[in-house]
Amino acid sequence: MDFIFNELFLVEKQIDEHKVDDSNAVAMIRMLAKYNCHEKHMNKDENYKAILDYMTKYCKTFTEADYYKIIDNCIASVGKYGFKNIDSIKIMRSELSFIARLKDLRLERLAFVLLCVAKYDHYYSDSNEYWCNRSWTSIFSMARLSKNSPEERQKVLRALKLAGAIETTHKVGQDSLKILFVAPEDDNNVVFELTETDFKELGYVYLYYKNGFDGFVPCQSCGRLIKKNTSNTKYCKECSKKNDSYNKDEFYENWKRQNGLESLKTQK
Ligand SMILES: [Zn+2]
Repeated sequence: MDFIFNELFLVEKQIDEHKVDDSNAVAMIRMLAKYNCHEKHMNKDENYKAILDYMTKYCKTFTEADYYKIIDNCIASVGKYGFKNIDSIKIMRSELSFIARLKDLRLERLAFVLLCVAKYDHYYSDSNEYWCNRSWTSIFSMARLSKNSPEERQKVLRALKLAGAIETTHKVGQDSLKILFVAPEDDNNVVFELTETDFKELGYVYLYYKNGFDGFVPCQSCGRLIKKNTSNTKYCKECSKKNDSYNKDEFYENWKRQNGLESLKTQK
């Protein structure tokens, strides 16, 4: 699951590069409508005209006759907020103290993930309620907890409810959780500010903090936290796959060093 902090940057890049997926003109129209409204502050007529110009120029499958209704609908439903442009998500001291009082590392990691996800989803919202509508499976996997049987999920859900961390509601076919321990933002009480990279490994971020910022190192390519181990791992799984050929050489060099065979370097 990807948490994008600077959605606006990606949208602007897409618009500037004129890369329109001809098989999905609607997605581009929706994006332009929202962008023109919230970033360019265009009124409905200006927005319509700008979308028409852009799509006529850059989308091969577009004609006004086919899409005028869709453009109108997209403009009418741009929503209250623009694209996400988040610097960081702040975690407060009292939130971490609440989590620590759960005194069970599994529950603590889950509570931390729920808090972070709810804060991310809430970023552009006026409400003072923090909800998390993601699946338990994804919450467990973000917390890096593997045991995920339905009984196990019910057990932790109950424990978190009993501790006053969450409240649940059941909407058609889906459980929603309300996070009850979000503290008001107060700059004097910020313990750390999470970035998009931190959101790749929220469970590890919590353990790292809990361990006094030890036990993990950032991947040298993408910054995602990885477990510090004896083999001096430098890259996360994804990056090491990407850099496979490079890593093979590096692995070979390490292996030679460990076996006192550095002299092999000079041999061809
Ligand atoms: Zn990486």
